[in-house]
Amino acid sequence: MKRSVIRSAGDASPGVSDYENIWKLRILNRALWVVFAGSVGAIGLWIFRRGGFDKGALLGGVFTTLVFASLHPRFSWRFKAVILIFDFTLVGMYFPSITGPRFGPLCLAGAGCIVVAAFFGRLPAYLLALADFAGIMAYGILAHLGWLKTLDIPLPGEAAFMTWFQAGIVFLAANTVLVMMVDEIVRSLAVSIERLKRQHAISKSLALYDNLTGLPNRKLFQDRLQHAMAASARDLQYGAVFFIDVDNFKNINDTSGHASGDYFLTTVAERLSDVIKPTDTAARWGGDEFVVIAENLSSSLTQAGQAAEKIGEKILEAINVPIANPYAKGQSYQNSVSIGITLMYGHIHSADELLKRADIAMYQAKVGGKNRLRNFDVDMQKQVEERLALEADLKEALRKSEFELHFQPQYNSQHKVFGAEILLRWRHATRGMIFPGDFIPLAEETGDIIEIGKWVIRMACLKLQEWGEQDTKKHLVLAINVSPKQFREPGFAEMVRETVRQSGITPAALKLELTESLMLENVDETIQKMEQLKGVGVGFSLDDFGTGYSSLAYLKRLPFSQLKIDQSFVRDMTSDKNDAILIRTIIGMAANLNLQVIAEGVETPEQLGALSEMGCHAYQGFHFSRPVPLAEFENLLLL
Ligand code: C2E
Ligand code: MG
Ligand code: MG
Repeated sequence: MKRSVIRSAGDASPGVSDYENIWKLRILNRALWVVFAGSVGAIGLWIFRRGGFDKGALLGGVFTTLVFASLHPRFSWRFKAVILIFDFTLVGMYFPSITGPRFGPLCLAGAGCIVVAAFFGRLPAYLLALADFAGIMAYGILAHLGWLKTLDIPLPGEAAFMTWFQAGIVFLAANTVLVMMVDEIVRSLAVSIERLKRQHAISKSLALYDNLTGLPNRKLFQDRLQHAMAASARDLQYGAVFFIDVDNFKNINDTSGHASGDYFLTTVAERLSDVIKPTDTAARWGGDEFVVIAENLSSSLTQAGQAAEKIGEKILEAINVPIANPYAKGQSYQNSVSIGITLMYGHIHSADELLKRADIAMYQAKVGGKNRLRNFDVDMQKQVEERLALEADLKEALRKSEFELHFQPQYNSQHKVFGAEILLRWRHATRGMIFPGDFIPLAEETGDIIEIGKWVIRMACLKLQEWGEQDTKKHLVLAINVSPKQFREPGFAEMVRETVRQSGITPAALKLELTESLMLENVDETIQKMEQLKGVGVGFSLDDFGTGYSSLAYLKRLPFSQLKIDQSFVRDMTSDKNDAILIRTIIGMAANLNLQVIAEGVETPEQLGALSEMGCHAYQGFHFSRPVPLAEFENLLLL
């Protein structure tokens, strides 16, 4: 069984906005360190030149301490940016009161504007520059009035005010240009980051949603399941997990192409979402498999079970409404789904266990005939585990030579053996003898039937080759059961021809038993293959005739040489008039179509008498002999 559960890992990768903040913090921290170091140096120099600690040194010390404190990682980038701006501006604007309008200190105030532009945008930066300008002009007025004594002396013949005025204009012009530039750079950076953010959001949603149906994917589903389990534990409410698989989905893809298949899946997804409550989750598990979580069903187990079944039935009903194929006018699909349900209650079962259970139940729904619901029960699990074990053993059985051929003799009207049907037996190391009904269907499903079937044909040819050299046995015909899957295998006809040729047997000694299901699809291919083999002389018998859907039209076209009346009719022919009529009809029809007829499952002398009276002259059944091992069969021939 396919099973791969992806665990949802916590999303540890940082988002785009984290990167953005990291970038801002890094720049600001560096700048603050530089300012801090520069300030310490400058204060030292100041004290040295002034020959002592004055109010200028005190002010510098306060700002430097503030800068140092703001380096602490607990502060946000905004706080750090404000400290930087504050420091630049105030220090830059304080010094001219002592030094006059020298540009060095004013540049510091300008740097504050640039930092504002970088971190808070153009407008606040212009406002700050204007405020600084106003400050410079205020210095100029004070100087002009003689209320401020700065170190700077106005140029000869010039009013003190003009020196300040020029400084102010230069300051404003230079800053406007710089602020514009910084703003441009930051804006383009912001655009790139915005684009990155969008890409990040898209890739994040791709990672959580299925891109065909738009439903949550496995990863998100796992996450929701964990949440649902936690909620169920908290609220003491049962929930349910549904595993849903589309029946025969492959047919849509094979017959109408993948676009139609995709459309079908999308429609199924839509219908699922419509059926469930908005608070429940429908997700795509993969391929044609969907999963659903229904929460808050009830606090009582029985009621929750009933509610879950109701939801399941609604889903069945919704999907069963035919889906029109947009790629082929007039064509529509009615593919059902098989649903497995398991109830969820807190953390009693792990998420993996819940999914496994729902999956097992879904599988049982398939086995039960598809288009239905199944609830998980523990016996189911045992069955599935047993099946898995058998499947594993089956893969080894050929290599370990555990298969045996049994022969059920076939008799003619003189009650003489004219051949046998080969029936396979599996002598299992621990389970003992296993009959074909318990492993052939499995081998067909897993594909092992191809190798097993080849082996049976090879062994039959070897036996016929040996018998061909013995006068008492060279007339014997061996009938071999061929399963549809084996027959459909592309190299089948070639393989049989080659085996027959190599063994050198009379091809007519080999009769292949096919069932009616082969007529249901690819009739042309079937006819072609049969003709190919009939061409070399191999015979065909139509097994279990009457139980399938044979159409007379096909029967005429397919080159069978024999019809085998199914044992179910023979069993009841002496008690059920209808069965007797049916057998008479089959015999008559066979005669008209020029086909031989053989009855299987002949158990009583009465059945034998009736069959012979109706004109059937070949038999096989417990009345004569059960299927027996080779040695016993050869002994039988001596009788
Ligand atoms: P089938 O080909 O219809 O074989 C007839 C089945 O009826 C055999 O069961 C046989 O043992 C049983 N049988 C014969 N006479 C009587 C009778 O008088 N009364 C009753 N009640 N049953 C009788 P078996 O051996 O269990 O095989 C079951 C089926 O397994 C076969 O049905 C055939 O479809 C399949 N099978 C057997 N061997 C092979 C094989 O080598 N390859 C493939 N593909 N299928 C095989
Ligand atoms: Mg058969
Ligand atoms: Mg049969």
